[in-house]
Amino acid sequence: TKYVYTFGNGKADGDRSMKILLGGKGAGLAEMSALGLPVPPGFTITTQVCTWFTNNVGKYPPNLDLQVTESIAAIEQITSTRFGDPHRPLLLSVRSGSRVSMPGMMDTVLNLGLNDTTVQGLASDSRDPRFAYDSYRRFIQMFADVVMGVPHHHFEHILEQHKRACRLKLDTDLAVEDWQQIIAKYKQKIHSEAGRDFPQDPHTQLWHSITAVFRSWSNARAVTYRKLQNIPNDWGTAVNVQAMVFGNMGDTSATGVAFTRDPSTGGNALYGEYLVNAQGEDVVAGIRTPQQITLAGKAANRSNLPSMEEVMPGLFHELNAVRQTLEEHYSDMQDIEFTIQRGKLYILQTRTGKRTARAALKIACDMVDEGLITEDQAVMRVDPGSLNQLLHPTIDRTAERHVLASGLAASPGAASGHIVFSADEAERLAQGGEKTILCRTETSPEDIHGMNAAVGIVTSRGGMTSHAAVVARGMGRPCVAGASDVNIDYNANFMEVCGRILQEGDIVTIDGGSGEIMLGQVPTTEPELSGDFSRLMGWADKWRKLGVLVNADTPEDCRKALEFGAEGIGLCRTEHMFFEGVRIVAMREMILAKNVEERRKALRKVLPMQRDDFAEIFRLMEGRPVTIRLLDPPLHEFLPHTETEMRTVASAAGLSLEYVREQVSRLRETNPMLGHRGCRVGITYPEVYEMQTRAILEAGAMVGKETGVDVEVEIMVPFVGVEAELRIVKESIDKVAEDVLVKGKMVHYVVGTMIELPRAALNAGKIARQARFFSFGTNDLTQMAFGLSRDDAGNFLPTYEKRGIIEADPFVHLDEEGVGELMRFAVERGRKTRSDLKVCVCGEHGGDAKSVRFCHKLGLDCVSCSPYRVPIARLAAAQAAL
Ligand code: ADP
Ligand code: MG
Ligand code: MG
Repeated sequence: TKYVYTFGNGKADGDRSMKILLGGKGAGLAEMSALGLPVPPGFTITTQVCTWFTNNVGKYPPNLDLQVTESIAAIEQITSTRFGDPHRPLLLSVRSGSRVSMPGMMDTVLNLGLNDTTVQGLASDSRDPRFAYDSYRRFIQMFADVVMGVPHHHFEHILEQHKRACRLKLDTDLAVEDWQQIIAKYKQKIHSEAGRDFPQDPHTQLWHSITAVFRSWSNARAVTYRKLQNIPNDWGTAVNVQAMVFGNMGDTSATGVAFTRDPSTGGNALYGEYLVNAQGEDVVAGIRTPQQITLAGKAANRSNLPSMEEVMPGLFHELNAVRQTLEEHYSDMQDIEFTIQRGKLYILQTRTGKRTARAALKIACDMVDEGLITEDQAVMRVDPGSLNQLLHPTIDRTAERHVLASGLAASPGAASGHIVFSADEAERLAQGGEKTILCRTETSPEDIHGMNAAVGIVTSRGGMTSHAAVVARGMGRPCVAGASDVNIDYNANFMEVCGRILQEGDIVTIDGGSGEIMLGQVPTTEPELSGDFSRLMGWADKWRKLGVLVNADTPEDCRKALEFGAEGIGLCRTEHMFFEGVRIVAMREMILAKNVEERRKALRKVLPMQRDDFAEIFRLMEGRPVTIRLLDPPLHEFLPHTETEMRTVASAAGLSLEYVREQVSRLRETNPMLGHRGCRVGITYPEVYEMQTRAILEAGAMVGKETGVDVEVEIMVPFVGVEAELRIVKESIDKVAEDVLVKGKMVHYVVGTMIELPRAALNAGKIARQARFFSFGTNDLTQMAFGLSRDDAGNFLPTYEKRGIIEADPFVHLDEEGVGELMRFAVERGRKTRSDLKVCVCGEHGGDAKSVRFCHKLGLDCVSCSPYRVPIARLAAAQAAL
């Protein structure tokens, strides 16, 4: 078996299509090498070896050794160096790289192959002993950390001590002799901490590093990250071994990261940062403030350091040429890593660049205009879930605000919350429903859970490509990075901003689109939905087969939803219409009434109010279909609780307090959600549904006449489990309709049902005799199918997810193989009875991209979701159809 794929010198064994085997990084290096881009030669050990290694308790497949040796020889040939050679040593990097990028989650070892002998060779070969010893100490430190488990801080401590003792400030002030002394101390430290010596043999170094990288696939932070990102544990990582190039060979050397377009705005120009005389992660680690690549970037970031465009114009043009090659080749925005060694440019990595939703939209539309992609490709380019970022409010530009400090606009959106200084605190407060802004000097992969829990992130150090910025953009959290005026004191739990002290718990507002940090809660404005957004949505609407409706109960919801492109209302709940103000009293009178006449009397009070509510909604919807669900919640929920409430009802209804008390205790239920609710109420108290039907149809007739546009209403009966239930309710609806709808009135109605009980799904063939449409109430259907209550699931569902008993929270992503199976059954049976049966989903899943895809596959007619999710559903439906 071939376990090792080489690349270099304009050739490669692998290519971009081989991500599963070579990992994203390996596939990218191979592709770039074959394209003729300047990639240092190397080879990739496949993800298969990772799996083999894991299954065979840390052993490697036979032959691997030989294949690695041959591949090293190939690198030696290209670079005219030799691994372990005392005069011209080949140095290597050992890098992880899985199928999808997991930035910073796994380990990398640089400068491998250095030892007490080869370092001298490197010193004379490079004519820069300082550089050689600097590289050696970096290698020792990384190797010790990654392979031998001796953490960085030991070495940082030694370095600090040395600097202090010798009164030196910057790393660059250290001379060769300093590094040599430090290296000696590093080695002692390793010996005392690990109980073993730092290995001098390059082959030992190599194999230990390869093993460490394979093992790092299973380290705690990588496991957490995969869980958050839904990445399977069995994919494994590849290992890339590559010839080193050096960005730390003095002032004509540098290292940097760049995006082929602006990842925050989508602007069509190179965007990135670099550091002169630096190596590896120095740029991302936020240790030194990086310089901008372009002049425009320098201006936008108010940087006073010179840009690469100014300092190294020739190399800047070369980098731009690489940008063009890569974009034309990949037809997408790329995120690249590069290193300049004594004026020569090398590309070390390329991958599809993460971007904000705003940038994704702009890039997709621009690339259509540039002829790089087609409209349907553009539709596939934008993650439906990410649209959320665009639909939410931003800071009201005209509002008064007190700007405390500003940093980089690292991830857009506005957020207000209480300041916290640790990820754990953010997570703790989030559990209690509190909004927090996580403020850190810089973030690291250990902070991911807190970044996820916070509504916004602030760092005082680091650039646009720092950990905080990259992760925040991925999560859609607003982020202000590198706000250097913020000084955080972790021990005392406060931060100082330009002389002002902010304690933990104080409220701030951040604007990740401008980089500002403001005191207190600042008002926000609604987003702009024209331009790229409406263009992309227009393309999406061309492809999708599913209709997209909204779950809307109020006129505000309706307005929002129409703005977002809803085609009608898929679920209008009527319960809130009973709880408001004086209505609840009338409702209670109705429940407690001694006879039908009294009940009707109470309901007559509610009728005009409901009619007005419906009329307003019909007017707003201008003839678009409106599905109204008749009363659903348990009667239990309407009962008066307190003494005062009981008294109020008693006097309103002319009943004795004693009687009211008795009735209330009689009507109280142990399991109201499985009790007297939905159509069961409609059957025991038919007056309720009659009143609602009357309110709906009268409102419809009124608005139809008033506007000259026919009103289309679908009356939906909840909680049906048996055909007869629906038949009885439908008969009474039709009877009211006969009464209200004198011929020629401009309102049309049909009757249908929710499918939210497993029995209804299984018996859908019969139920469809009575129903013109079905709408899956997937929240209830999920609860009933699993036999679990959503309100109580929090106590065990997280454990279930963690232990892999269930794949995902079934209330977030539809459980396809259980609940989905019930749905499939219901669709089949229902359509057999009635071929034109309209089938929809109206649970929260209607706005979840993954669930929408499933609904498309099931052949449903439409999905209905909350207003802010309408665009997500439109885009997801288009992607499902493509
Ligand atoms: P990650 O996946 O965490 O980004 P990488 O494998 O890309 O890790 O390595 C991190 C950094 O190490 C790179 O950005 C690059 O700067 C540096 N590096 C990796 N390989 C080489 C190499 N062959 N020569 C010089 N620097 C390298
Ligand atoms: Mg990298
Ligand atoms: Mg329900």
